[in-house]
Amino acid sequence: MAESETMRILVVDDERDIREGCVRVLKRLNSEVQTAENGNEALAMIKDTSFPIVLLDLKMPGLDGMDVLREIRAMDETILVIIITGFATVETAIEAMKQGAYDFIPKPFDPAQLRMVVERAQDKISLMRQAENLALERSRTLADLSTEKSRISAIVESLPNGVVVTDTTGQVVLINPSFKHLLGLPMDTEPGGNISDYIADEELCHMVTDISRGEYSEGMEMPPHELAVDGKYLIARGRPVPGESGQCLGAVVTLGDFTAMKIFDQLKSEFVAKVSHELRSPLSTIHEQLEMVLNDIAENENVREDQHLLSRAKEKTGGLIALIGDLLDLSRIEAGGTGYNVQALKPDVLLGDIVAFMKDRATAKNQTLALETGDAPLPELQADPMALESIFGNLIANAINYTGEKGTITVRAVAEDNRLKVTVADTGFGIDPRHQEKIFEKFYRVKDDNTRYITGTGLGLPIVKGLVEQMNGEIHLESTPGKGSTFRVILPAG
Ligand code: ADP
Repeated sequence: MAESETMRILVVDDERDIREGCVRVLKRLNSEVQTAENGNEALAMIKDTSFPIVLLDLKMPGLDGMDVLREIRAMDETILVIIITGFATVETAIEAMKQGAYDFIPKPFDPAQLRMVVERAQDKISLMRQAENLALERSRTLADLSTEKSRISAIVESLPNGVVVTDTTGQVVLINPSFKHLLGLPMDTEPGGNISDYIADEELCHMVTDISRGEYSEGMEMPPHELAVDGKYLIARGRPVPGESGQCLGAVVTLGDFTAMKIFDQLKSEFVAKVSHELRSPLSTIHEQLEMVLNDIAENENVREDQHLLSRAKEKTGGLIALIGDLLDLSRIEAGGTGYNVQALKPDVLLGDIVAFMKDRATAKNQTLALETGDAPLPELQADPMALESIFGNLIANAINYTGEKGTITVRAVAEDNRLKVTVADTGFGIDPRHQEKIFEKFYRVKDDNTRYITGTGLGLPIVKGLVEQMNGEIHLESTPGKGSTFRVILPAG
């Protein structure tokens, strides 16, 4: 026997001696042997328990052995039936074989003969079982492969990037939902068409067809191709799909959405353009003015006029220095690089210092600048003093700048729900509602009759807003044109 395993054997014979003899001999063959003395009993036992081998006497009272054989075969054709017969004739042998008997053993037989016949049957069963196991294993591997396949297709389906795969003729064999979404195709779009049925961009279609046809060698990637679809900016990358022997099976192309990056890039260009513009006009004025001064000096005339030109040039350089300073502050705030020097601050002391510092400017315009802190104590702040100086310095400077002669600027600080509320109120030009949100944008300046001759960078309020937000605070504006403006800053205490 190929494998040592117990096999159940049923011996069906009406002669007790034969039954008992068989049991004795077969037990030694690592078998569990049971017996039945007639056909009906045997069939009932087979229905109940599986017997891979049945030794069956053909001549028994009651049910005929041949009928029992037929019924056993009808129940389970894998059962090997070995016929025992006392009158072995060629006819009975042929008949039994026709009915599906596996082997034959004529009576009387000796133990060796019995063992040989049964061992042969056992070997056959072992081989059959091995073959079954192999088949099972194979089908399991196939099942594993198919779950692996479905896992990979689930991953491709849920990829955020669009994926399209073509065959060697450029026919689409696979598309994922992101591909349809990015190209604005209906979600029920099926593969099967030519690549140009899915992608309108001709250049990209050509490239995909070239890759599909094998015009790109393995590992070669097509140059990234940009395309615009429905206001979205997409980037396509394609590669050949190599077969086992390196031949090209088609192309795989991924599509990514880089709209956000593109917008960011545009904003950056706009910003650079604005900065260049803001820097160029004062610089060219200075340049011309210096040239005139130099000419005058050469001719030694108009010294008074030269003085005037030089002071205008100085004003412009001052403006440029302020602009560059503001730009640097802003980029520091945007990079999150402020607030290093956080310390406990008493707001009344700090605001007092700033107001005192700005007093001269207000006085030069005959304005009144005052700080009011009320009687209630103000909450202590945990902040970088430079940030607070920048916030309130900018707001007070604006109030002075955009308020006419003899105006009033009041800085008021109060405690409110464990927060510090500071208002900077002026009786100045005020701001038209249509400008009120925009003045917090970079470089935005109101240009009207009041502000025409006031120089500035348009960066002060964006800096203030950036700093306030970095401190988890809020800034609000109330303003009436012709009456004045109030900027309210609320900062968390502690
Ligand atoms: P800048 O003062 O350098 O122009 P800001 O960002 O500080 O830049 O201010 C933007 C614009 O908001 C100013 O150009 C001005 O038109 C307006 N503005 C700011 N503060 C006031 C104010 N207190 N009263 C009236 N207008 C103001």
